[in-house]
Parts: sequence; C-alpha cells; structure tokens
Amino acid sequence: MSTTRREFSKGIAATGLGVLAAPSILCAADARVVVIGGGAAGATAAKYIARDSDGAVQVTLVEPKTRYVTCFYSNLYLAGYRTLESITHDYDRLRDSYGVTLMNDSAKEIDPTARRVTLESGETIGYDKLVVAPGVDLKFDAIEGYDEAAAEIMPHAWKAGPQTELLRRQVENTERGGLFVLAAPPNPYRCPPGPYERVCSIAHQLKQRNPSAKILVLDAKDKFSKQELFQDAWDRYYSGMIEWVPAEFGGVVTRVDTAAMTVTTGDETHRVAFANIIPAQTAGAIAHRSGLVGSNGWCPIVSTTMQSRFDENIYVVGDATEAGDMPKSAYSANSQAKVAAMAIRAELTGSRLFPPRLRNTCWSTLAPHDAVKVGAHYEATEDGITTVGSFISTSDEDDNSRARSSTESDAWYDGITADIFG
Ligand code: FAD
Repeated sequence: MSTTRREFSKGIAATGLGVLAAPSILCAADARVVVIGGGAAGATAAKYIARDSDGAVQVTLVEPKTRYVTCFYSNLYLAGYRTLESITHDYDRLRDSYGVTLMNDSAKEIDPTARRVTLESGETIGYDKLVVAPGVDLKFDAIEGYDEAAAEIMPHAWKAGPQTELLRRQVENTERGGLFVLAAPPNPYRCPPGPYERVCSIAHQLKQRNPSAKILVLDAKDKFSKQELFQDAWDRYYSGMIEWVPAEFGGVVTRVDTAAMTVTTGDETHRVAFANIIPAQTAGAIAHRSGLVGSNGWCPIVSTTMQSRFDENIYVVGDATEAGDMPKSAYSANSQAKVAAMAIRAELTGSRLFPPRLRNTCWSTLAPHDAVKVGAHYEATEDGITTVGSFISTSDEDDNSRARSSTESDAWYDGITADIFG
C-alpha cells in the first residue's frame, strides 16, 4: 500500500468526516467511471451512475460473463420451483438504455497512481473513480482435499451457474436412500440464511423422489440465521430427514475425499451419495491483488460513501466489503451500490449528496407458499454501519402470512432484478 493510500485512511479517521471534504468537479465530458464486476452491486452502481448523470459521466462495466445467473433464487431452482432461465439476466439494457459501455473481460490489475485498470486481454482503461464489486471468492485451502477440481464432484454451488446445475442433477439422480451432506461455512459469508434455505429446497426434492434419503448438515458454526424458523420447518415438512450438527458437537468439516466420496469431521467420516461443500469465503481476488483488503480478508470502507479506506478514488460495494451489521446479500449490495453511485456523482458532477439509505431484507422459502423473512435498516456513521431497526418472521405465523411473504419474495425478486439490470 502506498503512503498516499495510508494517509487517506488516516485522514478520514482524523477529520471524522467520512466523506471527501472538497469535491474536485471535473468537466462533465471528461468524467470516467470504471466498474469491476457486473453482479448485484456492480451492475446497480453502473446503471445508477450512468442513468442519473445525464451523459455527464462515461461508465464502463467490466464483467467476464455475458449472462449473469443470480445466486439469489438459485435455491428455488434447486427445489424445482424456478427454471434457470428465469434467474438469468443480461446486460443489454444497461448498454442500450443507459449508455454503459460493456467490456466482456476480467480486470487483472489496478494501478491506483495512474488510475488505470488492466484487463486480462491486455487492454487498459483509465478512470477518475473506480467501483470494485467482485463479490466473494471461496477459500479452497480451508478444507483438506477441497479444490476447484473437487468442486466438480462435490459442488459448492455458491456462485450460481454450472455449479448450481451440477448440484441439481445430483439431487435428481441420487441413489435410493443414501446420505446427502451439506457443509455450511463459518461466518462471515454470502447470504447467512442461504445454506439452510438450501436444505429445505433439497429436502423438498428428495421427499418426492427419494424419501428414504437422509440429509446431514455439518456446520462450522453453533447457530445460524433464522434458526428457529428453519428448524421448525424441517420438523413440519421434512420430518425425520434432516440432522444438523453444530461446530461444538463436531460439525466442522476438515477433509473431503472425492474418490472415496467421503466427508470427514474431527472424528467421523461419512460416506455420501452426494455432497454440497460450501467453504469459508473472502473478498474477490482482484480486491486482494489491489491492496483493498484488510487483515480479515474483507475490504474496509467509509460507510457513508462506500469509498475504500485505502484509496479515495476507489469505491468497494457488495459482498467484498466489511460492511458492519449489513449481511452479505443482494439486497445489501444493491443498497450499498446506490450510496456509492450518489457519492461518485456528487464528486464528479457536484450533484447533491443525501444521507445514505441502507436496508436489507432476506426472504427464505421453506416449502411451497411458505416463506419467512428477516430484515433491517441501518445507520452509516464514521464508526461503521449499525442496525437501527429490524424485524423477523415468527414461528407461530398462520399460513396466510407465510403465503403473503412468499408472494412478497417473488415481487422482490422481480423488482430487484429490474432495478439492477434495467
Ligand atoms: P456477485 O453477485 O457475485 O457479483 C460479482 C461479479 O463480479 C461476478 O459477476 C463476477 O463475474 C465479477 N468479477 C469478479 N472478479 C472480477 C474481475 N476481476 N473482473 C471483472 N469482473 C469480476 N441475497 C439476497 O439479497 N436475497 C436472497 O434471497 C439471496 N439468496 C442467496 C442464495 C444463495 C444460494 C446464495 C449463494 C446467495 C444468495 N444471496 C441472496 C446473496 C447474493 O447473491 C449476493 O450477496 C450478491 O450476489 C452479492 O453481489 P455482488 O455484486 O457483491 O457479488
């Protein structure tokens, strides 16, 4: 990290401002923003900067995929409630309606001094402000025997696409009876309720196709998001099928052997029909390579603007951030990206900066027409992002409330994907 970058971080702490003191407004036509990563965070940022700057800012989005499969709702694809096509989106509207330049490539290197991004293809793009939104990477060294090759046999399916399709094929073709292991990751990780919603999705499929199969959830934690609600649903809908083993009772997976099809915890080895191994996570590699990551593996940010603590011209949004009380979710990513977009436009065009609005709600589908939710709104101060109000479904809700949450969840999916991708 350069001296300049350390000074920026120190300066923020010293002034307590949390925002840049003196915006240097560029001549409109000269302003260039590059966004790395076209997920929930990056695509939102690209759209909002381009849309709300009336052509004053040229926005370039760098993303290797031409079509993005959302992780959110990928558990519903596993359950058979949704098709893969219905959770796949392209970037055409960002280009056609908002004038975003699409670069179908990966960012290889960031030069913060020259303000330049080098792509895998060798091309370079200059920027005035850079948004880094690479999501998470999986820590393939966290479990012995689990690497990218092993994930082709025991999928993680924690980045949606071919991995999710592989897991669904395994769910559909499992041998009669047999054991399915889901290894749940340690905190913090993308989508806290995600592994447990996935248990419901796979149980729903197995109940119809292979009701004598067993599901063993081996957890690296002792408790989890919406725990009472999920455990209640496991008893109600999938009785006798699911066992959950917390870390304190030996739930931590230490080793997998894809040749023998075994999953090992401290003192037990399980022979599995198929397994879903979700390892520990960290910020996407480009954030690590560019010195944007703190000692905990996540990117520290100025919570009022989403600026990197290490570089005043770089903003980090989405799962790669260390965002205080906000969970790593698409809702959070979308909400953070709008805060960054507003701060960047203010910097580049002098537009007004409003107080940040940071929110999250995560719905989880337990069974057909039965969904629960947890959510909060947050305050961003110089000390970080903290919860100021929250809500959660209860286990005594009636069927109508649950059905309403399920409808609400579908409406959220349609709304947020329209908001992100145009
Ligand atoms: P991503 O969406 O992962 O996007 C990152 C993008 O960056 C990717 O497209 C990647 O290709 C690109 N990229 C990476 N490196 C580079 C590079 N060097 N150059 C260019 N591009 C790069 N959230 C909810 O709100 N509600 C839910 O119900 C929900 N359910 C979920 C269920 C599951 C099973 C999972 C796994 C997640 C779920 N989530 C949910 C979480 C949500 O998917 C993530 O929090 C969200 O996708 C984070 O957005 P992001 O933009 O930070 O990362």
